[in-house]
Amino acid sequence: MLPIHEQFYSFQGEGAHAGRAAYFIRTFGCPVHCPWCDSAGTWHPDYIPDKVERLAVDTLVAEVAKTKAEFVVVTGGEPAIHDLAPLVDALHKIGRAVHLETSGAFAIKGDFEWITLSPKRWKLPLAENIARADEFKIIVDQDGAIPEYVKVIGKTTKPVWLHPEWSRHSDVVTLDAITEWVKAEGSPYRAGWQMHKHYAADSKDARSAPAVPLGGDSEKGF
Ligand code: SF4
Repeated sequence: MLPIHEQFYSFQGEGAHAGRAAYFIRTFGCPVHCPWCDSAGTWHPDYIPDKVERLAVDTLVAEVAKTKAEFVVVTGGEPAIHDLAPLVDALHKIGRAVHLETSGAFAIKGDFEWITLSPKRWKLPLAENIARADEFKIIVDQDGAIPEYVKVIGKTTKPVWLHPEWSRHSDVVTLDAITEWVKAEGSPYRAGWQMHKHYAADSKDARSAPAVPLGGDSEKGF
């Protein structure tokens, strides 16, 4: 059984697998507490739902099996606070690859095909998770965030995506900082974007929870 905040069928909107059909399972709970979290419904006392569903692995797998998702994304909250191995194993049995989105701050249980690690200064990633990650996502939320997190990640040849923190996605200073970093450094840095937010793709599935962002403008969806 896992505490589930939401599950929905959409496409991956960011990273190296952007644009591919994906089934999302968002677990409940996160001890990291980023002040601009865009999934505050998974942990913030002001936004958590009255009741959190605990679903059996078989129930989740049965929903995935109804779709043509090319892979399943387990996200959060911070999914790695849960033992994800039984879910990953059961999804493999129906032939689905499983991807993880994590802050990297907790030991990862499960044999994932792809791990996206987004370091957060409030709880830094474990070295073993940095070594295991397939790509990195730096959230550019303030001046100096890029070099700060480049230092945390260390030397790597894996893609390092630079994403504007979404409430700053129209902020010229933030976007210019990303542009200039990518131009000056080249590989492995890539300018990133949360494409699904412009498509409003996740909300097309009625089971998706409304976006509950901190620090942004909920009227505008961030
Ligand atoms: S952004 Fe991610 S790591 Fe940060 S509080 Fe939200 S769910 Fe947790």
